[in-house]
Amino acid sequence: MPKEEIQAKIVVVGDSGSGKSSIISRYKNGTFNTDSDSTIGASFYLHTIEINSHILKLSIWDTAGQERYDSISTLYSRNSQAVILVADATRDDKVESLMKWYNKIVKQLLNDEVLVFVAVNKIDLTTVLYEFADVKIFADSVGATMFLTSAKDDLNITELFLSVGNAIVHKSF
Ligand code: GDP
Ligand code: MG
Repeated sequence: MPKEEIQAKIVVVGDSGSGKSSIISRYKNGTFNTDSDSTIGASFYLHTIEINSHILKLSIWDTAGQERYDSISTLYSRNSQAVILVADATRDDKVESLMKWYNKIVKQLLNDEVLVFVAVNKIDLTTVLYEFADVKIFADSVGATMFLTSAKDDLNITELFLSVGNAIVHKSF
């Protein structure tokens, strides 16, 4: 039986420095770089995964260096099936930052079906067992699935993208 092919667009958004490019690079190349590359320009890469005999072709979009230009990230986010909101675990303004990106991107999509994920990144820099209860409350309030990630230590990066992939496949059938 031929395998079903599904195409989906995922956008990764969040404040500059939260680790968006690092998360993508960890997933894509299995590497981590301490040099932040904030070259202006959208980049996306294609990644194919197989889930339950479905071929899922993901285009994963990184809005490098455009964090300040609202209209650009909004434009890049068009037609996306899933949005990953990234926040820096070490910052006190995580929830405000996530809310800002939620309002700027997710709400603008005007699509009730869009899948929302929250990645609290750089957990390698936080103390063990820190629970991020405030972020969890926010994530629950918008129906988002939350992951605590570290691009540096490779924690929950694959899990995050697999969860996105699973949700997309689940929604498509
Ligand atoms: P972006 O602006 O959101 O794309 O963020 P970058 O991916 O460029 O990361 C910003 C800085 O945070 C860089 O110096 C990264 O090396 C660092 N960084 C990213 N992810 C992690 C992480 O999980 N742990 C730690 N300790 N540093 C990280
Ligand atoms: Mg970047």
